[in-house]
Order: sequence, then C-alpha cells, then structure tokens
Amino acid sequence: MKVLVVGSGGREHALCWAIAKSSKLSKLFCAPGNAGIAEVAECVAIGGEDIDALVTFAKDNAIDLVVVGPEAPLVLGLVDKLEEAGIRAFGPSAAASVLEGSKGFMKDMCAKAGVPTAAYGRFTEAEAAKSFIRENGAPIVVKTDGLAAGKGVIICQTVGEAEKAVDDMMGDKIFGDAGNEIVVEDFLEGEECSFFALIDGERALPLAAAQDHKAAYDGDKGPNTGGMGAYSPTPIATPEICDKIMETAITPLIKTMAKEGCPYKGVLFCGLMVKDGVPTVLEYNIRFGDPECQVLMMRWKSDVLEALDAAAQGKLDDIQLDWHDETAMVVVMAAQGYPGSYEKGTEIKNINQANTIENAFVFHAGTKADDGKILATGGRVLGVTGRGQTVREAQATTYKAVDAIDWEKGFCRRDIGWRAVAREDQ
Ligand code: ATP
Repeated sequence: MKVLVVGSGGREHALCWAIAKSSKLSKLFCAPGNAGIAEVAECVAIGGEDIDALVTFAKDNAIDLVVVGPEAPLVLGLVDKLEEAGIRAFGPSAAASVLEGSKGFMKDMCAKAGVPTAAYGRFTEAEAAKSFIRENGAPIVVKTDGLAAGKGVIICQTVGEAEKAVDDMMGDKIFGDAGNEIVVEDFLEGEECSFFALIDGERALPLAAAQDHKAAYDGDKGPNTGGMGAYSPTPIATPEICDKIMETAITPLIKTMAKEGCPYKGVLFCGLMVKDGVPTVLEYNIRFGDPECQVLMMRWKSDVLEALDAAAQGKLDDIQLDWHDETAMVVVMAAQGYPGSYEKGTEIKNINQANTIENAFVFHAGTKADDGKILATGGRVLGVTGRGQTVREAQATTYKAVDAIDWEKGFCRRDIGWRAVAREDQ
C-alpha cells in the first residue's frame, strides 16, 4: 500500500514509525513531516491545512490510504474531499469533527446517547448563563463552545468568578468568536485519564488508556502546555474501568452519531474524570493525543497500518490487536521558555546515541535537518519514549535516553509518571 500521513509533530512521527513496520506498506509519504519523520518516510512540502494540494498529491501518487494526524485538516473537510476523489482516509468527516469543534454539540450528543458527563447548559445570552450559574452555585466550569487552544475552559471557585468568566467570554470576547456561545457545567472531582478507540463508522475497537501531564513544570506546576509527558497503561484505568468506558462513553456515542447522520470513523480520544471507579466524560477529541500517540505506538505490537486501514474501510470486525504488556512513557523535551516565547534554530546533538538505548526511541515533534545538524523549530521539540516492566522501569529507561541527548537550550520535566510510580510503591 502507498500511504500518506498528514502532519508534522511527534504524533505523526510515531504514526509513521509504526506504519513503516507494516508488511503491507510499499511506500510512505508524510506532508509536511519533520527531520525524524524523514528517516522513515518521504517528506513532501505541503502544509497540513492545504487541503486542495493534499488531495491533488494523493491522486497524482495513487495513494491507497491517507492517515490524518491533527484536527485542523479534519475540521476543514480533508477526509470528505479525499473520499469524493475516491481516496480512502483514516479520520472523521467534517460533520463528525464538530464533536471536538463545538462543546455544545458534544454535550448534546452525550445527552442523546446517555453518556455520563457533567450536567450543563448552553448559552448565547450572558444573562441566561449567569442565572444558571446562580441557581447551580460554585464550583462551576465555564467553557467557550468553540476551540480556544486549550485555554477556553475556566474553572470557577465562586459564583462571582463564573459571572466574570461569562463577561470575559461573551462581552469582552477574550477568545474571539469561540465565545459567541458558551457551555456552563458542573465541576467534576477525580483523577483525569484519556482513553482511545478505533472506530469504523459502526464498530469500536478499544486501544488503550493513558495519562498525561499538561503543566509545564515538575509537581504539575506552572502554565498549561500541549502536554509535557504521558504514560500508558495507567493504573487508574483498570481493565474494569476500560470496559465501563467502552460500554458507557464510546459505544453509545458512536451509535448515536451514526443515527444522527454523522457516522464517526477514525480514532476517538475520550478525556475522562475517574472517581471511585466511575468514569465521567470531560471531552472528546477527533484525533490521537500528542504526546499520548507516542506511548500508544510504543505499546502497539500488531500491524498498525492494517488496523487503521480496516477502520477507514468499515471493517474493524476482522481486526485483532496485540500489545506489549509493558508500560510505555514519553518525556517531552521543549525549548527553554515554552509555553511562552522561545528561541528557534538551536542545535540538538546525540539523538542517535539515545536511540541505541534498549527499549527507548526518540520521536521528533519540532525539528529540521540542516547541513547534517538537527535544529529545534518549535516549542515541544522531542518526545523521548521508553518501555519497562513497571512504570518505574519505563521512567528509568526514558530518562536514561533523555540524559543521552545534548541540548543546551532545552528542558523537560523530571517527574513524568509520579502518580503511577507512587501507586506502584504503595
Ligand atoms: P479548548 O477547547 O480551549 O482547546 P479543551 O478541549 O482542552 O479546551 P476540556 O478538555 O473540556 O477543554 O477542558 C480542559 C481541562 O479543564 C480538562 O482537561 C480538565 O482538567 C478541566 N475540566 C474541564 N471540564 C471540567 C469539569 N466539568 N470539571 C472539572 N474539571 C474540568
């Protein structure tokens, strides 16, 4: 098969690395890719949001399957346009992608499907939102309906704070049009985890659970980021809880989306709060998480391409997945200053040395090759991954690989997995 992966981050490097191992693969392209991806795929200089150019490239090169990594091209309808052109694609249609693009739509789908999620209201008028807040009391959560780069969620400890959040979003438009409509919902207590499943329009096949660390600094302190590290499996998502997530949060949602005329295909990422063994849905995303994708690919033993292609064809019934039963961990190395401003173009050395460590591998998230050197081009730059029999062992392998890398202008957290390690030590 000829395959095109769309995207340029650690998630897409992990996807390319896994797909490259498939016996079904004849040629792998990635648009636009990065320096690490270039070692396993031919990188093509087409931006991930240049929908027309991607469709033309896929047609001209007789691509059998396009695997879309990030959400932006999905929301822009890349999968619809590819399918119109007769090209198979892994990822949801634009209509199904609204699940991530509109929190109000997502909450309404959950209500129709009977998926457990926080009680909520949808509002286009500030006064109505404020009276809902006064009736329900604090703590309470105020969210923009649209995407706001992870910042459109305000957890309010008092009614006053929540009323101010409504004014900021709807009056002052601090998140632009994303706040034209808002969702106000009950505050949920518990511990967060993510769960991933492959969906073929009708059927859902569970992948695995993971836990990530969003805060920039050790101890889960500092500003929120796109993710500073993750691990899978996670001890809070026991096999019983994973079964419950499939039964209550994945299967009913998929059935309802098909009934509502927007069948879902691709990977479904479910963010959950777990308390006393009960999972409650916080959000759905329409793509693999990054960095979670990197640990999932490290654990995934069977043919990844075969499974993604079966999901795209509506044939997941034929697929049996096989996993490494060890824990995989990823530690993100970022440019100093991230998530604020940071320098670009600094040199990173010794990635190859890190890759010689057994059960470790370095995924590139924001790099380019320049005259034999590897240069940092983004905020989150490398995803250093490792596997081990226990979380502690995975952590030791991963940090050994981190320490082999020579990047003066980079930093990482030193405590990824601390909750799971503490549980293991109990
Ligand atoms: P954006 O749309 O701005 O990109 P997002 O999709 O990341 O944001 P959510 O996942 O809904 O937004 O929320 C972000 C975080 O806020 C969650 O990971 C969780 O920590 C917290 N959160 C969201 N809703 C609740 C809730 N009802 N109770 C407690 N915490 C919540």
